[in-house]
Amino acid sequence: MAVRSTKRGAERGPLSGEWDVIVCGASFAGLAVARELAGSGARTLLLDRYDIGERQTSACGIPTAWLHAMGLEESGRQEFGELVVHTPHGTSRYELPWTFSTFEYRQLCQLLDDQNDARFETAKVDGRSDETMHTDRGDVTAPLIVDALGWRRVLSRDGFQPPDAPLSRGLEVHPEGGSADLEIWIDRRYVPAGYGWRFPAAREQRIGVGSFDPRFHVRDTTELLAEDLGRDRVRYQGNWIPHKMRHATEDGVFFCGDSAGHCLPLTAEGIRTAFYFGIALGRELRAVVEGRQTREEALRSYAEFADSHEWKFRWLLRAQRLLPRLPARVQRALIRVAGRKRFVDWAFGHYLRIAPPEFAGSANDQVGPSEQQAHAEHAFPAQGDLLESEHA
Ligand SMILES: Cc1cc2nc3c(=O)[nH]c(=O)nc-3n(C[C@H](O)[C@H](O)[C@H](O)COP(=O)(O)OP(=O)(O)OC[C@H]3O[C@@H](n4cnc5c(N)ncnc54)[C@H](O)[C@@H]3O)c2cc1C
Repeated sequence: MAVRSTKRGAERGPLSGEWDVIVCGASFAGLAVARELAGSGARTLLLDRYDIGERQTSACGIPTAWLHAMGLEESGRQEFGELVVHTPHGTSRYELPWTFSTFEYRQLCQLLDDQNDARFETAKVDGRSDETMHTDRGDVTAPLIVDALGWRRVLSRDGFQPPDAPLSRGLEVHPEGGSADLEIWIDRRYVPAGYGWRFPAAREQRIGVGSFDPRFHVRDTTELLAEDLGRDRVRYQGNWIPHKMRHATEDGVFFCGDSAGHCLPLTAEGIRTAFYFGIALGRELRAVVEGRQTREEALRSYAEFADSHEWKFRWLLRAQRLLPRLPARVQRALIRVAGRKRFVDWAFGHYLRIAPPEFAGSANDQVGPSEQQAHAEHAFPAQGDLLESEHA
């Protein structure tokens, strides 16, 4: 059970000490790393500037199987067997081979936090020198340091600033009121390159717009979409979304989730990939703590694991760049053709296997680095298969 220690104002005393692992960032990626270290005996410190689950960072949609695989079902709010795709020239309904669910952010984070035995402290991470982490509450040290701090990649030497960096822009409003369908809009009225969405979550809806072009501001069109749907423009939530992978290790630090660009291009799905890479990283770190490998081996092995997925991300990025350039009628024709059941099953099946739920296993599965690598290699069709289908 995690030790919670949220401190505010005067309670925020100085922070110090030596740890085996410091995980910076306690959202999807950081909590997944900490989960895999539970029971290993590692002294793990989990840091975030906010309390667990305090600031929602997404529309919170995920393949339902991932909620089950992680024991997070209770946080689920609504489940969908279909995806409705609107364009200016018509609407298609895709019958999905697996279901997608929305969940409640705070509850999910708390359930996930219950699966680790780390010490949690609220602190703003400012930077690092070697094994020392600098926070607004003082310095802490550890040989194993994880940056799960989101797109800013705070512990990297390389600056990464929008709008020049490969980042998409996302903003949504959260009006009350139910709705039945999981919907997206591919419509230049809302965004020239990107899509709009409505993700119902029981009594609330998450209505937003994401732009692949960071220079396109999405506030006006997020409001336009909400207005078109007759919904209030309330409770805004937005952020930058990375759409390009970055090195998973740098200068002795491990990066995962958005800090390593683990969000999938084209769909901007980054929760299950944050889980997936966070789990892989947690297992590598666990092997170090248990004396089964060195830190250097873990750095190499985790980097190789992440790199082996790079081409899948690159293909999605190509699609992200190509599809918005097509004329609207061609987009509509493609969406209609792609809606055939066999194609949907094939495409969504492979898409899920980029980061499949079976990878989660149980919290203490002893999957070694080599098994992880083997999994990564077999989890997606060969490049040739993709090329063939591209030309089909
Ligand atoms: C509007 C929008 C909607 C989205 N919808 C979806 C969706 O439905 N499904 C999906 O799969 N993906 C979605 N995404 C993408 C998804 O939110 C991200 O890919 C995902 O949150 C990445 O998880 P993470 O743990 O790596 O980073 P984050 O969730 O960004 O977490 C980073 C954590 O680090 C903390 N932190 C940051 N800086 C510091 C610091 N200096 N010191 C201390 N703590 C710090 C933050 O407080 C936060 O808790 C959406 C993104 C946006 C912007």
